[in-house]
Amino acid sequence: MDFQLTDEQRLISESAREFCDKEIAPRVRENDRAGRFDRELASMLGEMGYLGAPVAEEYGGRSLDYLGYGLIVEQVGRVDSSARTVVSVQTSLVCGSIERWGTEEQKRRWLPRLCSGEALGCFALTEPDFGSDAASLRTRAERTDSGWTITGGKMWISMGNVADVALVFAQTDPEKKHRGLACFLVPTDTDGYSSQEIHGKLGLRSSDTAEISLDEVEVAGDALLGGIGDGFKIAMSALDNGRYSVAAGCVGICDGCVHASVAYAKERKQFGVPIASFQLVQELIAEMIVKRDAARMLVWRAGALKDRGVRNTVETSIAKYYATEAAVDCANMAIQVHGGSGYVDDYPVERYLRDARVTTLYEGTSQIHKLIIGRDATGINAMVPSTAGE
Ligand SMILES: Cc1cc2nc3c(=O)[nH]c(=O)nc-3n(C[C@H](O)[C@H](O)[C@H](O)COP(=O)(O)OP(=O)(O)OC[C@H]3O[C@@H](n4cnc5c(N)ncnc54)[C@H](O)[C@@H]3O)c2cc1C
Repeated sequence: MDFQLTDEQRLISESAREFCDKEIAPRVRENDRAGRFDRELASMLGEMGYLGAPVAEEYGGRSLDYLGYGLIVEQVGRVDSSARTVVSVQTSLVCGSIERWGTEEQKRRWLPRLCSGEALGCFALTEPDFGSDAASLRTRAERTDSGWTITGGKMWISMGNVADVALVFAQTDPEKKHRGLACFLVPTDTDGYSSQEIHGKLGLRSSDTAEISLDEVEVAGDALLGGIGDGFKIAMSALDNGRYSVAAGCVGICDGCVHASVAYAKERKQFGVPIASFQLVQELIAEMIVKRDAARMLVWRAGALKDRGVRNTVETSIAKYYATEAAVDCANMAIQVHGGSGYVDDYPVERYLRDARVTTLYEGTSQIHKLIIGRDATGINAMVPSTAGE
């Protein structure tokens, strides 16, 4: 066991840190205030090779291992969770699914454009009536002579208004339940695809979030990703990677909280001394550091397992659950250290709290992750009550 990063990994992390501080940090506050999705920044992330970093080089990626990818995501998350959302969705949910499940033609058509940031993608799983219970989706895909017609609605889809391609999960045979689900690559300029921006979010204000309507959207047979009935497996395998990315971003939030708090505590004076001199302030900082380091170790463990090709659903759930809750706690404590100044956006900590809050909800709520961990430990599935569907 080696807790040291290699020289190459350190370089990846340091150059990501530099890029984020120089290019992302100056935009964050204005984008957040304006609730503006920064398309130019998304292109810059692509130019840096941060969209699709683990994708094979032959498809436009960097063939980076998961640990290296996590280090980049941590740095982006430290500075801007909305930009981190672009990296996570595009890389882990969209590119990762196409690379793993796509035909050669689908990979060649979409991956180079997605990895470069020329095109954007979204992952449309959640529906208005089905969130945690993703196996019960109602969006319907019906066969036609030339392909499929898809009808239904999706909710809370990150980048749904700005994406060029949507991974749409739909039911092909309701009697088969989750075994009837399929995933389709739907170009968003297809007739019948429309989206609406969701306004009024607590955080992630410069991340685009959409409600999507699919009204008899016709796609060719080659839009099917994987086989009919593979939809649930595709969604779960994508989420295994997406959750890792969210967790890594949350380590970044924790780290940002530590650094902002230490700097502020050394500068701000009360009772004639820097507030860092007070034991109760140091306690807040110490708690943040412990949570950050524990979250980071759990993320690295999940990344190392992914790199070894070992099954890691539970370890990823543990990392996601812990790191997201840690980010919320750290942001809350960082505001406390900043006093009244922590309540306005002159400092990043109030945005950290607003942005961290969603991470315990999406890509599996904290409750769902506890149930995954508990199921693994006990062998009993407590997620679906025995009376469900009766
Ligand atoms: C900003 C944002 C961006 C998002 N981006 C995307 C995206 O890009 N793509 C996408 O497909 N989705 C996306 N989502 C949706 C997100 O994944 C869902 O919100 C999440 O899965 C929870 O589903 P829900 O909101 O329907 O809550 P529900 O499933 O209705 O849960 C409500 C509450 O019930 C609890 N609960 C539910 N089932 C159980 C159970 N079995 N046991 C115990 N407690 C339970 C939950 O933990 C939660 O506390 C996004 C959401 C947000 C807010």
